Amino acid sequence: MSTTTLEQQRASEALPEKMTAVVCHGPEDYRLEQLDTPAPAAGEMLMQVEAVGVCASDLKCYHGAAKFWGDENRPAWAQHGVTPGHELVGVIVSADQQGRDTHGVAVGDRVACEQIVPCGECRYCQRGEYWMCGPHDMFGFRNYNGAMAQYMVVPSKARVHKVSKELPPAHAAFAEPLSCSLHGVERANIKFDDVVVVAGCGPIGLGMIAGAKAKSPMKVVALDMVDDKLELAKKCGADEVINIGTEDAVARIKDMTGGYGADVYIESTGHPSAVGQGLNLLRKLGTYVEYSVFGSDVSVDWSIISDDKELDVLGAHLGPHCWPAAIKMIESSILPMDEICTNQFPLEQFQEALDMVSDTSGASVKVSILPN
Ligand SMILES: [Zn+2]
Ligand SMILES: [Zn+2]
Repeated sequence: MSTTTLEQQRASEALPEKMTAVVCHGPEDYRLEQLDTPAPAAGEMLMQVEAVGVCASDLKCYHGAAKFWGDENRPAWAQHGVTPGHELVGVIVSADQQGRDTHGVAVGDRVACEQIVPCGECRYCQRGEYWMCGPHDMFGFRNYNGAMAQYMVVPSKARVHKVSKELPPAHAAFAEPLSCSLHGVERANIKFDDVVVVAGCGPIGLGMIAGAKAKSPMKVVALDMVDDKLELAKKCGADEVINIGTEDAVARIKDMTGGYGADVYIESTGHPSAVGQGLNLLRKLGTYVEYSVFGSDVSVDWSIISDDKELDVLGAHLGPHCWPAAIKMIESSILPMDEICTNQFPLEQFQEALDMVSDTSGASVKVSILPN
């Protein structure tokens, strides 16, 4: 006990009084500020942040999407004054006994935290459906500061996972998007016989391709408009790729399936046009999984779901119960991580990182910030 206390003391003695952090002051107003290094309360831990991925959802929040800031149909969910960043990994630099026991980690361990901080009390949390937690507090958006900062408090309700220190920090932080991808794949209930189509080869789509491939279906088909991303999709496990900018995806899929259509369609693009495309290329009794967050309402011929095809349409959100599998997948080097984690920026250049993710021309895949 005395050694741990000493270790802990040494760690906290080394901590600077001030740290640099990004603070959200509302849409398109994120500022770099000097803040007091947070002091964890009893049962909490302090993490020195190593890497934080920039997510499409960070961008949607930055640009003021209704899901985050509300409109006539929904209340605001994001908050002013919060440090963004939920795809995070770091080293625990300070923790009391209670914190270490709660999370099963030691000072010096590298950990990733799930993005949601479940309340533990609502009906969803009580039933183990914590990713649908009612209050829905999340690092970087609501009630908990995220990782675009040198240090971050790991609250006692956080869900913490150890990650190998062998991995480059940006690769380790990919556990968050990959867990989301794997959950989307789990929702699809893939069978050996299936032709699975994944729409979109961004970070989430690439993870879905790898996850779908791991389920060993007959064929995994990737759709995108950028040839470089389709090449990367092949390295992640796609058997066939279709550039929807130059080819007729519905016709190609029908050709592959004796005219019937795909068994499973997993949508990760966030483009309204990808919804109708999926309904059209699925076979009767097929399965549609929606993962995206859309910037606007989507209109489709809803009768395809009922009268025409009797489809199963399923939603997917976050990566519940998929973190250990995602971490194992990254640690086992089966993914081309160097090609997925294309760009890393220091904290001072957070704005460039955000702008790079906004630019959808295909230059970057996963953009990360390394705050220390
Ligand atoms: Zn994310
Ligand atoms: Zn809850």
